[in-house]
Amino acid sequence: MSGLDDTSRCPVAAACATCGGTSKLAVATIDTPVGVYCATLCGRCAQAEGMVRPPSWGAAIDLVTAHCGHLGIDVDQMAELMDAERATDADGW
Ligand SMILES: [Zn+2]
Ligand SMILES: [Zn+2]
Repeated sequence: MSGLDDTSRCPVAAACATCGGTSKLAVATIDTPVGVYCATLCGRCAQAEGMVRPPSWGAAIDLVTAHCGHLGIDVDQMAELMDAERATDADGW
């Protein structure tokens, strides 16, 4: 369990980031090679969270940087946490 999935301080957008829907909105975290970021998803898209992709890598980096701000860490600290998480995941394979 890492702190990168903590969305308690992430703002919920007015509409789903994927389909623009507005029902059952909640913040989810999306894991990408450049970092973890948060996105507001409706109930339907949250079910398909694995399908969520950033609009572009440049946008993903901006989103990751923003999510670091929500967590109160900087991007270097996020990179360290991601490395630690990968090392832990490797034990399971
Ligand atoms: Zn949606
Ligand atoms: Zn966030």
